Order: sequence, then C-alpha cells, then structure tokens
Amino acid sequence: MLILLTNDDGIRAPGLLAALRVLRRLGEVQVVAPETVQSAAGHGITINGPLRTYPVPVDDETTGTSVEGRPADCVKLAIQKILPQKPDLVVSGINSGANVGINVIYSGTVAAAIEAAFLGVPAIALSLLMDRGVPDYEHAAEIFFESIQRIISNGLITGCVMNVNVPALRAPDRPKGVRVVPQCVRPWSDQYDKRLDPRGNPYYWNTATFDLHKDDQHTDVAALRDGYVTITPLMFDLTDSKMLDDSRVKSLNG
Ligand code: MN
Repeated sequence: MLILLTNDDGIRAPGLLAALRVLRRLGEVQVVAPETVQSAAGHGITINGPLRTYPVPVDDETTGTSVEGRPADCVKLAIQKILPQKPDLVVSGINSGANVGINVIYSGTVAAAIEAAFLGVPAIALSLLMDRGVPDYEHAAEIFFESIQRIISNGLITGCVMNVNVPALRAPDRPKGVRVVPQCVRPWSDQYDKRLDPRGNPYYWNTATFDLHKDDQHTDVAALRDGYVTITPLMFDLTDSKMLDDSRVKSLNG
C-alpha cells in the first residue's frame, strides 16, 4: 500500500512524525507537506506564484518533500508530479488541535484530505484535541492507528473523507470508545478585541468563544469533549440536495 502523508502544521510538526511512524506498518509512506504552518488556511491553492519544493529529512528513514504552498497544493502536486503512482490512501495530520464542529470548514488538515477525496483517493484526516498539558503524539498515533485499521478493513471509500479526532490523552489513558457522529454546525460567537499597536494604530484580535448548546449532544464536538474518538464522514459536494426540490429554487428554472 502506498500512502501519502501530509498535514497543515508543516513538514517539521511532531504530529506528522508520529503519524509516519505508525503508518509505516501498512506499507510505503511518502511525505509531501507544507514548508510553513498553514493552520486555518482552508482549501486555498496557489495559482499566481511558483510552488517551490525542498527535500526535508523527516526521520532517519524518510526524506519528505516540503512545498511552499497550501495543504491542498501539496496533495495536488504529490499526486500529479512527486509520487511514482497514485497513492492508495492519503492521510492528513496528526493536527495539533481538534478539527470538529465548524472548525472543519477552516481546517487545512481537512482541506488536504478533501482534495485527495476529490482526486479519487480515499482520505483520512487526523486531529488531536489540545488541552493545557504537553500533547502525547505517540500515544495519540497508536489510538488513531486503531481507527485507521478499522477504516481500511471495512473497505476504503473513494470520494469520502473520514475525519477522525482523538481526545487529549496521555499514555496509558484510553478513550471511552469510538463514536460515528455528525459535525456540529453551531457557529462560534465571534468577538474581536480592539487594541492599539505601539504606534497608536488600531488592530483586532479574534477572541471567539464556543459554547455547546443542549441540542448539540449527538455531535462531534460533544463526543470528543466526553472522551470519545470521533469519526465523521465528510463530502466535498456543496450542493444543497434538499433545496434542489424546494419550489423557491426549482422555480428559478426558466
Ligand atoms: Mn494545524
């Protein structure tokens, strides 16, 4: 099995290294990842500039390719030009920070996986919830690996992204279980602190907070908070299929 490993935290991120070490058990892993941190870059791509690439040793066994671009650029370039053949699986992560709820929209980690699915390669996004402690990426990677093995043995699905999140655990603590759950779509309550820079010019800092509503109990955000691994299948087709049959939309035909 040929696996493309990428992320949005950059090719030197500890989560990527931890993922590499467990994924090797499944076959050959090639790393193509951003040269710089691209968190919250979403599904941006580079169309008006060069995509420079550099060889970067990830560990003693693997030299990856870094790309001066976005996570989705890495997947496109890897599949088109860098890998010897189309990979069997694309894995994105392990991201430093959860990608549940509406964060999925902004996530570069998820965008890389969605790009792969769009290009016809099964994809898995891996994200680790952060708390105030030091993250245990090696332990998280083992927990992710259990879910990856089950996803593979159930049959990889072309065109679908499996978005997997793991709670902030340290060895030997175990998650309470695995929950397949829908994405929570409650918005953050956006707030911007207005401050002045040393030259007296105003700037704004996003200090958004998120409060879970009682209706959100059966979502990814709640299950992850409660200590479960969460798995959410994602799609890239943004068509609102229900609205195609709504009279207010249907009657736009002319
Ligand atoms: Mn990130």
